[in-house]
Amino acid sequence: MSEVRVRIAPSPTGPLHVGHARTALFNWLFARKSEGKFLLRIEDTDRERSKPEFEQDIVSGLQWLGLYWDEPIVYQSQRLNLYQREAKRLLDMGKAYPCFCSPEELDERRKAMLGRGIAPKYDRRCRHLSQAQRERLIRERPYVLRFAMPLEGEVIFQDIVRGEIRFANRELDDFVLVKSDGFPAYNFACVVDDHDMGITHVLRGEDHISNTPRQLHLYAALGCQPPQFAHLPLLLGSDRTKLSSRHGATSLSEYRKMGILPQAMVNFLALLGWYPKGQKEVMGLDEIIAQFDLSDVRPSGAIFDLEKLLWMNGHYLRQLPTERLAQMLVPYFARQGWMHDPPNRDERDYLMQVTPLVQERMRTLGEAVDLADFFYREPERYDPKAVKWLVKEGVADLLFELSNRLELLTDFGSGQVEATVRRLAAERDVKAAEVIHPTRAAVTGRTEGPSLFHLMAVLGKERCVGRLRKAVRLIQGGALGAAP
Ligand code: GLU
Repeated sequence: MSEVRVRIAPSPTGPLHVGHARTALFNWLFARKSEGKFLLRIEDTDRERSKPEFEQDIVSGLQWLGLYWDEPIVYQSQRLNLYQREAKRLLDMGKAYPCFCSPEELDERRKAMLGRGIAPKYDRRCRHLSQAQRERLIRERPYVLRFAMPLEGEVIFQDIVRGEIRFANRELDDFVLVKSDGFPAYNFACVVDDHDMGITHVLRGEDHISNTPRQLHLYAALGCQPPQFAHLPLLLGSDRTKLSSRHGATSLSEYRKMGILPQAMVNFLALLGWYPKGQKEVMGLDEIIAQFDLSDVRPSGAIFDLEKLLWMNGHYLRQLPTERLAQMLVPYFARQGWMHDPPNRDERDYLMQVTPLVQERMRTLGEAVDLADFFYREPERYDPKAVKWLVKEGVADLLFELSNRLELLTDFGSGQVEATVRRLAAERDVKAAEVIHPTRAAVTGRTEGPSLFHLMAVLGKERCVGRLRKAVRLIQGGALGAAP
């Protein structure tokens, strides 16, 4: 069997969509698994909508995921000669013809067809022009090149994911091959390139299924062997409708900014349509490559479940060594003005202590900002639940006493802090929780978070004592009682 060659062919008309990233991943996995080649083609023939910043977003998104391509990037805008040559060939064989209908005329006719309840299609008017008429009009009017679709028969193909698919030729219109600006339209450029690049398998989103019969006609007309096709299930939001911005972020770069790790994204995307044998969901890249098989891809829609992605990312975040995670948090914390980027020595030491305490709970790098907030700023307000603990009878007195005892500690390690809290509770004959909860509320402004004694040790004596006394002042001043 010849070498497997697959490609991803994004158009730089928008940022890299997570659906495209999933398609890229499946192609890449298939190539790795088959020891074949994974190629990147930029479909930049839409001159109005193609933008260099989108191309950059696509390239850096694929690199971020680790989906490197094996040959230089192919740009369609640099291959116009090739399309012209192939278009001429089709024209000479009578398999393509020039169409002089203007966009306005086409639009009018489309509307009329809709008005009569007919599915709008090009009416093939220009297909029947004589050679003499064509030659005259070519000099007078702009034109597109259309494919002369066979009027009878059908196209049948075996989709790797979906099995046999059939289309009646009469349903397919004489689609445009070359636009009036001389640039090729998608289906035509795609076939010319896939053939020229030696693509053996086309794995793409199911929204392209209806293009496949047109492309198969083009392969036949050009006398080329078509690749095999696999149409991957569409990504759906949690309400099972097509994934769109209504469901949240759709571009890969937004997830990257949020602080999703590439290894979590790869793992998550791999499971969108692929059902590996076995129950395991968290899988490293090597394992995914080893197990990946197109026969385990199912055609039904794949749900992009954000909660699952966050859960999975949290899992990968907890696997990271502290040092590595701390480095990753720097830009997020520096943006808050909490440290320099790169941090100075003190900032780095403190960060190394804070990191393991937020690592337990964070699901994205971005979430660490909220979780670590009290390590860097005195709480400006207390959560309503925290207030409930603070305004309890006798709490001000307990916290004041605790602040005095903590102040005397020479070793502010978590063990000493814990012993001090517990001793106070025992002496006052209250449960330890009766001291622990309001202390957490006063020091962090919250009722949940990492281990209290550890976080206090990291904050240090001065901050803890200061925050406890501030809370005492606010309670005594009646400033908290009014809160909900
Ligand atoms: N440019 C097309 C897209 O972005 C490529 C489709 C294909 O893979 O053939 O959807």
